[in-house]
Amino acid sequence: MSNRLIFLGPPGAGKGTQAQRVSESNNLLHLSTGDLLRAEVKSESELGKQISVVMNSGELVSDELVLSIVESKLVSKNSGWLLDGFPRNVTQAEALQSLLEKINQPVELVIFLEVNDELLLHRLIARGRADDNEEVIRNRLKVYREKTAPLVQHYTDQGILKSVKGDGSIESIETLIQAILV
Ligand code: AMP
Repeated sequence: MSNRLIFLGPPGAGKGTQAQRVSESNNLLHLSTGDLLRAEVKSESELGKQISVVMNSGELVSDELVLSIVESKLVSKNSGWLLDGFPRNVTQAEALQSLLEKINQPVELVIFLEVNDELLLHRLIARGRADDNEEVIRNRLKVYREKTAPLVQHYTDQGILKSVKGDGSIESIETLIQAILV
């Protein structure tokens, strides 16, 4: 069973939902950079205020900040993890790779959740998070296409990416993912 995983996909693909379920069923650490950043915003720290401005525009927060968050969590954990919302661009993917080489824990599998744009928009508008108004959603999709989507090719080239159609029910998608892991 693969137990060092990345969930990749556009905003609204269901990464968070599936990552939570799959990590619970397989006893993996679920590391969502979006959740960790939202927790920092909620704490109303000075850093949280700066992060909130970036998140509410749909842009990415700095690689440096996100990398330091991930590094602190991963280094202390060696029994399996699932990264959700990270890496978000090629710089982050390369930094992750060198960190994982250092601790001798390479990524085993990247699961790419595929969902068409129409369904993504529908899901994001229905979700109603602070950064889910229409203008910000459009920007998040643009940022995804420009910065994150190239990771699909990046991990395909490494031979570790598998695609899952993310347009069924929550349970049916989870079943598809679980079948790939074993
Ligand atoms: P998410 O919950 O994954 O949709 O992330 C929400 C927002 O948090 C994104 O639009 C970014 O502003 C920020 N964010 C989350 N993960 C990252 C990351 N790996 N790198 C940069 N920004 C991120």
